[in-house]
Amino acid sequence: MAVKIKDVTNYLESIAPRAYQESYDNSGLLVGDAQAEVTGILITLDCTEAVVQEAIDSGCNLVVAHHPIVFKGLKKFTGSNYVERTIMLAIRHDIALYAIHTNLDNVHTGVNRMIAGKIGLTGLRILAPRPDTLQKLVTFIPEADTEKVLAALHEAGAGQIGEYKNCSFRVDGTGTFQPTEAANPHIGQAHRQEYVRETRAEMIFPAHRRGDLLAALRKNHPYEEVAYYITPLVNENQEVGAGMIGELATPIEPLAFLQGLKSSMNLKMLRHTAILPKNIQKVAICGGAGSFLLQDAIRAGADVLVTADFKYHEFFDADGRIIIADIGHYESEVFTKELLQEVLMKKFHTFANIFSKTVTNPISYL
Ligand SMILES: [Zn+2]
Repeated sequence: MAVKIKDVTNYLESIAPRAYQESYDNSGLLVGDAQAEVTGILITLDCTEAVVQEAIDSGCNLVVAHHPIVFKGLKKFTGSNYVERTIMLAIRHDIALYAIHTNLDNVHTGVNRMIAGKIGLTGLRILAPRPDTLQKLVTFIPEADTEKVLAALHEAGAGQIGEYKNCSFRVDGTGTFQPTEAANPHIGQAHRQEYVRETRAEMIFPAHRRGDLLAALRKNHPYEEVAYYITPLVNENQEVGAGMIGELATPIEPLAFLQGLKSSMNLKMLRHTAILPKNIQKVAICGGAGSFLLQDAIRAGADVLVTADFKYHEFFDADGRIIIADIGHYESEVFTKELLQEVLMKKFHTFANIFSKTVTNPISYL
């Protein structure tokens, strides 16, 4: 069966939901018809004119990039800069452009997991878990329908906690109501007070699944009026957020760690702050620009923060408490291509998922 562009983007967003992108970001389908059939996918870190040309030449009509080519509103398309030219070339040749950026950074199976694997970290957890992504649903179900309704709610994304699925808490009690004559009650009749054995069920869910959950609840609950509460939670979501922290199997001297980093991440150079006397065991990481996580890394007891895009004055903030290792933005994220290919290969086999050969790093080293 033909695979449409929306099949690919829906699948990618089931792994890295767009709701998890940062407010400044612009992940998602940026150019193209979601209903078009996919002829091939070209995977790249950045989308440039050369990458779009490569897609045209290789018969791929979908470019999956980490960084969005468009961040801000564009007001004209005259080809006066590389963003406009890239978009114009894509539209002229029916090439769809898709970006999966900070949503892929922020999921625990994303960019940072890839870096952690390269460095050899275990015991991984999110460095700055998001506090605003979970909600709680409480609903009341007549006993005979409890299993069916809960199964539908779990199917729609409720009750997943870490490696446990179908989590709920249930307590049995009595629901009361009195239908009016305009009502069409599943149980009872007009003007008569009813007392029904009901199960009160509660479960946690990711806030962005709320629409799916309520649709499943209304479809499967037998009552004309379904009673439920939704409550926002301040719980941190351990599976969503910025950066990651993990441990090396054995502590290692800082210089040896940095040398090892150069080879595992394939670096020409890295920039770092003063070597501290303590061996490295706890390592904080963040693909791309991660200087905003320095205090989180220090608080979490990291011996080193491996990230990119530190400015001169920000290096001072290491302040003898941690080593900052700035390995370069492109270098920290280039393996994201491998991650995207691995994910796409699990699901789609009828067309090519290939790496772009274009080196998009705008920085050269002399
Ligand atoms: Zn980046």
